[in-house]
Amino acid sequence: MIEDAFARRALNYLYISISETVPKLPFSGRHWLTEVSKGTALRILNEHASKELFQSKEPLEICRAYIKLLEDIGFISSSKDYPIEKLGSDTLKITLKRTNCIYREYCIEAEEKGLFFKCPRMTSLQAVLEWSLGKKYDSTVDIDREQGICVGKLFPQKKELDEIVTRKDHILKIAGRRALLLPKITYSFILEAIKNYAPHILKHVLYEAGYNSAIPIAEKAKNMYPDPLEYLTILFEELKNAGLGEVILQSLDTSTCEAVIWCKDSFQIPTEEYETNLYRTPRVICDLLRGTFAAYLSVYFQKDIICEEMHCQSVSGEHCEFVSFPLDKENGPGGKSFDSTRKYPRSFNQNRDTGFFSS
Ligand SMILES: [Zn+2]
Ligand SMILES: [Zn+2]
Repeated sequence: MIEDAFARRALNYLYISISETVPKLPFSGRHWLTEVSKGTALRILNEHASKELFQSKEPLEICRAYIKLLEDIGFISSSKDYPIEKLGSDTLKITLKRTNCIYREYCIEAEEKGLFFKCPRMTSLQAVLEWSLGKKYDSTVDIDREQGICVGKLFPQKKELDEIVTRKDHILKIAGRRALLLPKITYSFILEAIKNYAPHILKHVLYEAGYNSAIPIAEKAKNMYPDPLEYLTILFEELKNAGLGEVILQSLDTSTCEAVIWCKDSFQIPTEEYETNLYRTPRVICDLLRGTFAAYLSVYFQKDIICEEMHCQSVSGEHCEFVSFPLDKENGPGGKSFDSTRKYPRSFNQNRDTGFFSS
């Protein structure tokens, strides 16, 4: 039935539309498409599959049985279009001519437009393997444009892919702790109140709040992503998803634990009338992010890392710039001062008095 041109088109448009929508969702949108594809496969199994069909514990046989099932119920025209072979002990390889694929419009448009893409055929096979074997699988697809062939690979998932932000019913959680979505005006009024009663503690409050609240998220991310770049990428993505700013890693030296981080449109930059009263003069103000970055790097390197904001978008420019370095570098015996060894000269001296080490 899916060979019917209209049905196939509609299916492809649906996937394209989901791919266009997913990046607009806050909080871990990238997993939704995979879940949608998996859910479709599970419905097919529930409706059409008898357990006898999937008695084998051999991934190759399970995938072949599923493709045969798709042929039997008329979802694909021929199971011969989907040759599956074993590639090493636990990897399967599926080769498919793009012209035979029912998802070709989606596959091609996603590639052309740079949309989020996860091959529905591969994710359905992931779902079937997980359903049969009770074990998580992952997949990749390589596209050979000249030959017009997609080569998919299926393999057991190496690490538990998990969400940092989750929602169950009305409870939202970040790294397992309850989270809430507040209008920025609430945050601004909290700052305004602290400023009125104890102006000198404001930046310390923000730095420590950023630092302490980021520790559990950083620990969770470290368990999920041992590679430093992957680890920071996922944390920065979560900050972006939560609306705190667009964070870009400029450099990271894992031997010295030094990092340069940019943030565009930090949520701490005053943007509206009611926030401009907080400071009378332009100054660096992103202390919560400063603390957050310090926590990320401290958890990763397992030592005290501090972070300074060298330049703030609220003073001028397109982004804020943060520099992180180990605490022992600043305070250690015979250690050189950060200012004189700084590799990233910027005209930030006018802002220096707002740094962490000034009073
Ligand atoms: Zn494809
Ligand atoms: Zn800033």
